[in-house]
Amino acid sequence: MLGEALCDYNKVSNLCVRAGRVIFARSVRINARISVPGVSSGNPEKAPPKFLRDKKMVPDSDPPSLKDTDSLYQFFESSTKLVVLTGAGMSTECGIPDYRSPNGAYSTGFRPITHQEFVRSKRARRRYWARSYAGWRKFTAAQPSAAHYALASLEKAGRINFMITQNVDRLHHRAGSNPLEIHGTVYTVICIDCGYSFCRNLFQEELKALNPKWAAAIESLDHGNPGSDKSFGMKQRPDGDIEIDEKFWEEDYTIPTCQKCGGVLKPDVVFFGDNVPKDRADRAMEAARECDAFLVLGSALMTMSAYRLIKAAHESGAATAIVNIGVTRADDLVPLKINARLGEILPRVLHTGSLSIPAVR
Ligand SMILES: [Zn+2]
Repeated sequence: MLGEALCDYNKVSNLCVRAGRVIFARSVRINARISVPGVSSGNPEKAPPKFLRDKKMVPDSDPPSLKDTDSLYQFFESSTKLVVLTGAGMSTECGIPDYRSPNGAYSTGFRPITHQEFVRSKRARRRYWARSYAGWRKFTAAQPSAAHYALASLEKAGRINFMITQNVDRLHHRAGSNPLEIHGTVYTVICIDCGYSFCRNLFQEELKALNPKWAAAIESLDHGNPGSDKSFGMKQRPDGDIEIDEKFWEEDYTIPTCQKCGGVLKPDVVFFGDNVPKDRADRAMEAARECDAFLVLGSALMTMSAYRLIKAAHESGAATAIVNIGVTRADDLVPLKINARLGEILPRVLHTGSLSIPAVR
């Protein structure tokens, strides 16, 4: 499953280059300062905390204290087989909103589509794909953060044994990491009838070809006059979904079907109400049980598929820690809980003590 997803990711990358837009950064630039090269956008002097604090979708948090930075540094230093689990908090700093943080989508009354709705209701699918099509350009334009690059550096340096992400946005990949995507990715589309999967960009092109006038209207909105987003009430969602007026998808609108069997196509993500595929869940659980340290970054651990991992690591005797702004489901479980922005604390950890991180290329 993962192999297929990565293969499709490469196809996406090729397509993007072919279209004349280099969207995917395949390498990480080198920062050769002090004894810790390896981070480019991770340079704390160039990632002004003010910029992050100004973004409404990132919850308020003070800059990380020296004590917290040192505690996290010690956590990395004392582990030899570390598993890192990342969540939406990684992506909010890149402009992709999450569902559950104080400023997240739930706080505005938004309820994401469930697997059951998607499978049962043609209307729900039309609505999902209409919004998601409209949000795709902005979604794919988001760039990895300093936190993504810092993790890629730690991973390349052998400080992270295994990485798991709940995020579906491929930002880790673009920073140079290769995490297990436990909830799948929106960069791949899969047929729920026969399992055939293919690159999301091809789906976008098919949908556009089937609905040229509709697509043109969306694109004029997307690229349009200042304020046009507001006048149509467009809002981006964590899965790439976007709020859009019903008149843009209710009539004369055709969704592509599977080219192999004519079946129903779905983004290859685990929607609310669905289960993580067994092989993927097993790989994540095995990593959690066998690690000596388990670190959660930017997740409230509200989904059982994530919570059960840190619980399993804890029960098998691993050290555990969480960096997240706000409460998590496992706060009572972990000895080390830090409230901090990941884009601020992770680059600082790289520049702490004797942590020697070779350059990521
Ligand atoms: Zn099919």
